[in-house]
Amino acid sequence: MSLDPLAAVHQRIAQAAQQARRDPRSICLLAVSKTFPASEVARVAALGQTAFGENYVQEAVDKITALRPDWPGLQWHFIGPLQSNKTREVAVHFDWMHSIDRLKIAQRLSAQRPAELPPLQVCIEVNVDGEASKSGVPPEQAGAMAAAVAALPGLRLRGLMGIPAPRQGLAAQRQPFAQLRALRDTIAAEHGLELDTLSMGMSADLEAAILEGATMVRVGSAIFGPRAKPQA
Ligand SMILES: *Cc1c(COP(=O)(O)O)cnc(C)c1O
Repeated sequence: MSLDPLAAVHQRIAQAAQQARRDPRSICLLAVSKTFPASEVARVAALGQTAFGENYVQEAVDKITALRPDWPGLQWHFIGPLQSNKTREVAVHFDWMHSIDRLKIAQRLSAQRPAELPPLQVCIEVNVDGEASKSGVPPEQAGAMAAAVAALPGLRLRGLMGIPAPRQGLAAQRQPFAQLRALRDTIAAEHGLELDTLSMGMSADLEAAILEGATMVRVGSAIFGPRAKPQA
């Protein structure tokens, strides 16, 4: 009997955690369901997966709305680039937002978060490799951004998120994740913030991320299979 892809990912997480001498329960698996239909989310939810990540606002809101009656316990994470005219949908429908890269986006999310919901949990996205094509704040600006975001009442700042450029081999993959962890530690100390989250690691490099302290890995294709259209 072949292992379900979700179970195989759990096994990869457990092995990396063991290698890092970490409790595997300290690593949250985020199933990235972008481009896949609500029926696929329901199939994976039925296997026990509760946290799902989405990149496109309208696609996500359609899925969340369709699934909420049968699956009220699912946790939804927005992980893609966000335009300021779409912040309200994220503030209303999501539990987490990982890709804060401008203060204006954070301010809008805070103001638009419905009062009856708990604060939106957020991470600041750091452009750890300084790639022109990638979003995220430059590492040297992340501290000031963190302090400003932490002061917003509708948000709860949890930590940093990063998407390093692809690298071959475990040692090379670990480098940018180690930088992100060090940056998190520095910002937490300098600004007196409790930052318990490092959202880093995807299908191709989750082991390296876990070895460097990831608390949340965002895994799409290893769970759902290849996506039809290439994603930016
Ligand atoms: C698509 C995406 C992922 C998942 O990527 P896979 O390589 O399919 O695991 C993780 N994080 C972000 C921000 C993404 O856009």
